[in-house]
Amino acid sequence: MSKLGFVPDATRRELTKVPGQLESYFRSTGRTRMLRSMCVTVSMLASGSRGNCATVASTRTKILVDAGVSCRETFKRMKALGEEPHSLSAILITHEHSDHIYGLATLAKKLRIPVFLTGATHSAWARAIRDEKGERPQLEKMERFESGHKFQIGDIEVKPFTIPHDAADPVGFTFRVEGSKVGIATDLGYVPVSVRDHLRGCDVLVMESNHDLEMLRLGPYPWSVKQRVMSRVGHLSNEALADFFTNDYDNGAAFVVLAHLSEQNNHPEVARREAERALANRGGLFQNRVLLAAQSEALEPIRL
Ligand SMILES: [Zn+2]
Ligand SMILES: [Zn+2]
Repeated sequence: MSKLGFVPDATRRELTKVPGQLESYFRSTGRTRMLRSMCVTVSMLASGSRGNCATVASTRTKILVDAGVSCRETFKRMKALGEEPHSLSAILITHEHSDHIYGLATLAKKLRIPVFLTGATHSAWARAIRDEKGERPQLEKMERFESGHKFQIGDIEVKPFTIPHDAADPVGFTFRVEGSKVGIATDLGYVPVSVRDHLRGCDVLVMESNHDLEMLRLGPYPWSVKQRVMSRVGHLSNEALADFFTNDYDNGAAFVVLAHLSEQNNHPEVARREAERALANRGGLFQNRVLLAAQSEALEPIRL
């Protein structure tokens, strides 16, 4: 049974808007025992072009999504949030760019847990990387998945979906966790219809808000890099995300997380303002708590 199956959907959405409210609801109805067995957590450990990783967890299963910072830094940030790295059940990889995979070989070796990635992503990574002896690192427990095909890790259902980005086989993920839905989509040049469909009905929605178009145009990057970032297989601008919020977003998430912000070509407050304006236009601002994932430190865990 879904963890929140006995709470009407509308009530659950209302209650999850404010941290702690859901807990009070269960207490007031004498359901504290049930409550203890229901906890969905999303922790944004690092986000940006210098490294990405996050955890998505149920009470029983904890998944690391991307391994873009060193093993040591991943462990440090998890511990700072009170999360035990050795409680991780699996590592999931979105694509082979180093800001998503840099720490993978060491993390996989230390934790000895399955690593889930697509065949093309694995090949691209294996071609590009060598260990200190100049050899290709092996993944002890590798599980291949295919975009569009859902699979199960513990009690979490994972659905990978294709995103437009200049990597071998890049994906975003949605997770079905104890009755809630979490969506993560970063590193995408635009938001195609298929991605919009996958992201419908999320309770936590992590979306890329990479750059402000004007800051990128006037910024220090060489023109070729600017073109790549702005292209249909580059990164999502604040403006493109605002357009998604205005035209295609279902306003259903209790938490919207802006992620993969460029340190050169964006500013957290610029990204927040743009997103909040778009959500307010839809009358949805008060239904969404907008959070900003950061590069230099982990975000306080989101709990549902
Ligand atoms: Zn990338
Ligand atoms: Zn990236």
